[in-house]
Amino acid sequence: MKIHEYQAKEILKSYGVPVPDGIAATSVDEAVEAAKKLEENGATLFVVKAQIHAGGRGKGRTKKNNAKGVILCKSVEEVKEAAESLLGDVLVTIQTGESGQLVQRLYVTDGVDIEKEFYLGILLDRALSKNVIMVSTEGGVEIEKVAEETPEKIVKEWVEPGMPLQVNQARHLAFALGLEGEALKKGIKFIMAIYNAYVETDSDMFEINPLILTPDNDILALDAKVT
Ligand code: ADP
Ligand code: MG
Repeated sequence: MKIHEYQAKEILKSYGVPVPDGIAATSVDEAVEAAKKLEENGATLFVVKAQIHAGGRGKGRTKKNNAKGVILCKSVEEVKEAAESLLGDVLVTIQTGESGQLVQRLYVTDGVDIEKEFYLGILLDRALSKNVIMVSTEGGVEIEKVAEETPEKIVKEWVEPGMPLQVNQARHLAFALGLEGEALKKGIKFIMAIYNAYVETDSDMFEINPLILTPDNDILALDAKVT
């Protein structure tokens, strides 16, 4: 079963995995209310994201309004316009096929400054009957493309089901992303927490693309796909 990004992020958050603040909305009014709430909590930038069961939203466009599936907004007014352009329209991305998917729900979230974008995935490696955690410095790019063109940029650690992830494995992965100092510590903590979330929720697949480093050395899941 696929769940939406906003649901995946609520789960991650409940396991101590850092995600930007965000609120789901099914109408323009709700989107405006969500943005106002985020603004009260200090947000100055917002991102309005179409909640469909497909990726590639940032580069996708809706049929009627030609709106992007991920829209950066500088004010509550811009959030309103973004919500109006997306709700009820059909979003076409490289993953939806030509028919696209109807946008019935949005996720209004804090706009975050991005220093670097990475990839993190967790799934069952069926050939080895072990869970595999994969990271790559090529964030924002589809993992299939990285696997085909620059497979050396994907670093993996395997974990026997029922066995815990070792801190030195998490360190190896975080180090492979080029993280140092405070960011390395947070990266290790992030990986330990998200692996625990994967196991505890009995999930088939976690994909965080992108996982980001902020200029303040925070590590956040900016996108989340959970199956
Ligand atoms: P998709 O994978 O469906 O295109 P993402 O959630 O990965 O959707 O968003 C696409 C891109 O938009 C990201 O790679 C990132 O650069 C940007 N983005 C997404 N969410 C935020 C955010 N909260 N703040 C800043 N930029 C964002
Ligand atoms: Mg993404």
